[in-house]
Amino acid sequence: MDKLQKNDEVAIMSGKDKGKRGKVERVFRKLGLVMVGGMNVYKRHQKARQMRGGDRVGGIVEFSRPLPRSSVRVVCPKCNKPVRVRLVMELGKARRACIACKEVFV
Ligand SMILES: [Zn+2]
Repeated sequence: MDKLQKNDEVAIMSGKDKGKRGKVERVFRKLGLVMVGGMNVYKRHQKARQMRGGDRVGGIVEFSRPLPRSSVRVVCPKCNKPVRVRLVMELGKARRACIACKEVFV
């Protein structure tokens, strides 16, 4: 059980998207990174090139980069605030509990 799970709503606590909220798309456990949809977006300018068939593609490509997990916090479903969570055991299963309101959620 990880304190961050896929599909969690998280708030960005630092960096250029500070204060925004998004959904966890992927947790890179070993790297300590999380991918949050629509966050940490960078633009890459790509030179137009000729594709097979004659279409020209190019211009600005947007892509997300993973964020360090220390810069996001889970949004508690009950108090609707970015909170720290701790792991608790409930009926033999690890669950997460909000530190602020003690709500236990999966
Ligand atoms: Zn809470």
